[in-house]
Amino acid sequence: MKYADLHIHTNLSDGSFTPEEAVASACKLGLEAISITDHDSVEAIGPALEAGEKYGVEVIPGVELSADAARREIHILGYYVDWKDPQFAERLRIFREVRLKRAEKIVKKLAELGKKIDFNELVQSYGKGSLGRLHIAREMLKFGYAHSIDEVFERYLGDYGPAYVPKKRLSPSEAIALVLKMGGVPVYAHPRISNRDELIPGFVKEGLRGLEVYHSEQDPEVSKRYQELAQKYDLVVTGGSDCHGHGKSEFLIGKVKIPYELVERLKDAREDIQTQRA
Ligand code: AMP
Ligand code: ZN
Ligand code: FE
Ligand code: FE
Repeated sequence: MKYADLHIHTNLSDGSFTPEEAVASACKLGLEAISITDHDSVEAIGPALEAGEKYGVEVIPGVELSADAARREIHILGYYVDWKDPQFAERLRIFREVRLKRAEKIVKKLAELGKKIDFNELVQSYGKGSLGRLHIAREMLKFGYAHSIDEVFERYLGDYGPAYVPKKRLSPSEAIALVLKMGGVPVYAHPRISNRDELIPGFVKEGLRGLEVYHSEQDPEVSKRYQELAQKYDLVVTGGSDCHGHGKSEFLIGKVKIPYELVERLKDAREDIQTQRA
């Protein structure tokens, strides 16, 4: 059997591995294919594709976009997006700029809560990539403000936390439309984490084509329910570990893997979308 892990972050967003390290790990684990899905960035795709050639791993270009929905952040994955499109690159660059400003606001809020961290240091360490809450959480651990990343999110940075600042950027339908415009397959990421299942029928009307049924934070029972939903709405089933390297929890690449046959279904969806787009 051939397997794929379709949700991996690199150090171009909030993962800890370089693109080549991610591909090398996938090779070592015997994965047939992986997708690099950094937040608001396709900067890792070029280097990952090169590494893929070297290591004999199929690399699927991907991206993970955030959208604000009903006081909850939801994530839309875009597989096979045209990562070389200059307009797309510019759009993502602006998203990353918004992230910088938002991080500054979060740091201010934290200071008001008595948890001071150095914004300049944050920017120096991570600002070249896609700066996010996970970077801030790591910085807070350094200062001893919490014992774990989870605790930081629970107490400060989670979607309802006192230092949370929304990105106020895309609606889910805009995120889906952007992926489609770039010839990519829009997939609703880790639906259980976002907990907004009631929005799925609307997403489908907007052009959603897949559901991330398998994910490191979705147990088998939950996956079964999403498998049924995917069938009901004729969505491609995807899955991945959402590995952030050593930057979030344990090393996850390959801990969630899907049969390669599902990658073929994803390719069918891509064909469909790209034919309609041409
Ligand atoms: P951002 O894109 O800056 O809004 O940050 C989102 C990222 O933060 C997610 O992709 C996760 O890596 C991380 N994250 C969000 N919520 C949590 C949580 N409750 N515990 C740990 N990490 C989280
Ligand atoms: Zn992340
Ligand atoms: Fe996500
Ligand atoms: Fe992710």
